[in-house]
Amino acid sequence: MDLIVQKFGGTSLSDEQSRRHVLRHVIREYEAGSRVVVVVSAMGRSGEPYATDSLLELVKANGNALPPRERDLLLSCGELISASVLCSLLRAEGLPAVALTGGQAGIVTDGQFGSARILEINAERMLGLLADKQIVVVTGFQGMTADGETTTLGRGGSDTSATAIGAALKADIVDIYTDVDGILTADPRWVKDARPLPVVSYEEICNMAQNGAKVIHPRAVEVAMKAGIPVRVRSTFSDGEGTLVTHAHALRSQGIWYDKTVTGLAHVRDVTQLAVTDRDGPADLQLRVFRAMASHGISVDFINVMPSGIHYTVTGNDTPTALELLEELGFEPRVRRACAKVSVIGGGMNGEPGVMARIVEALTGAGIQILQSADSNTTIWVLISESDLAAALQALHTAFGLHLGTGGEK
Ligand code: ADP
Ligand code: MG
Repeated sequence: MDLIVQKFGGTSLSDEQSRRHVLRHVIREYEAGSRVVVVVSAMGRSGEPYATDSLLELVKANGNALPPRERDLLLSCGELISASVLCSLLRAEGLPAVALTGGQAGIVTDGQFGSARILEINAERMLGLLADKQIVVVTGFQGMTADGETTTLGRGGSDTSATAIGAALKADIVDIYTDVDGILTADPRWVKDARPLPVVSYEEICNMAQNGAKVIHPRAVEVAMKAGIPVRVRSTFSDGEGTLVTHAHALRSQGIWYDKTVTGLAHVRDVTQLAVTDRDGPADLQLRVFRAMASHGISVDFINVMPSGIHYTVTGNDTPTALELLEELGFEPRVRRACAKVSVIGGGMNGEPGVMARIVEALTGAGIQILQSADSNTTIWVLISESDLAAALQALHTAFGLHLGTGGEK
């Protein structure tokens, strides 16, 4: 491999033992003669000292006193710590390594603090260091505006840093190292017999990620897809090959991929279902409701319009505001909190008859009530009670043979 980008997530960097694994992967590629850029997240997860959430805890007591600009300065510290520590470990092994902030690496973003977008990457500095045989360690999750302000990219942003750097440097591959063996047929925390997928198309993983599979950020996949850079999602803690993500046509042309009816499951928790009816029956009910939601930045999902009214969902976080707005409009919505949205995803389900029937059969067979459903060419969504989530995921996983690695293919 001529040039490789390796990204390591929080749990991969959280303790000495994990960082030894990280070193192993970096050294292997470097010694094989590749130019190596390493992108790091903040160490550990919520509760651990240098994790992003722990940094936020430091100012939590002061409410919203910290302006977004300074909040981003604080948030950017986690990755600085990771990058410096990894650099010291590499140096201790006698390897030439340099740590760069996102800004120093040439990542230019817009000025949207907390959810900045990468506008361009000026890659000269990284390329120069790589030409000098340096291992370049870059802080993920952050960049800099054209006028020198530090910005962060939002949750999961390090994935996007990695694929954007991969695109700018025309890397051969971007390896996303994490704490699971790749992209699995479902979240392994919920489905014990979920299996790693050897290959998956950009479109499918984007779809899974947008529907809640947080193993990789959807924007990161979009960036890689646009640049045509293959991505591998793999484990820091093993030497498995992980999951290769690339264009569906590239996979098909190599004869190593087929359109499965169902590739995997994803889910989102803490969803609230709202049912709004208008006793007076004016026709602009939807308009008034959705306009009010939109003007307050509340995103709505699962919209069902019926003669009697509308059903839709909002996140648990947005629920209090949504209810206030409905009350202001004079509605008395029926509210069902603690729901979960389960997505059944497969590039090959389009035109395949009976997929919905199999979903209904699996769920009702497990005694689970479907509260709402919706579908597109490649996805069927069902809304259920969150207390049914584990049973629902397991029932669907089994019904589509995902534990066997067959995916109910045609
Ligand atoms: P990192 O810190 O490495 O970025 P994340 O926590 O962001 O790690 O992502 C890895 C986690 O994603 C896994 O621990 C797993 O629980 C979760 N996950 C959700 N859906 C999937 C899936 N389909 N395949 C693999 N992991 C998944
Ligand atoms: Mg992540």
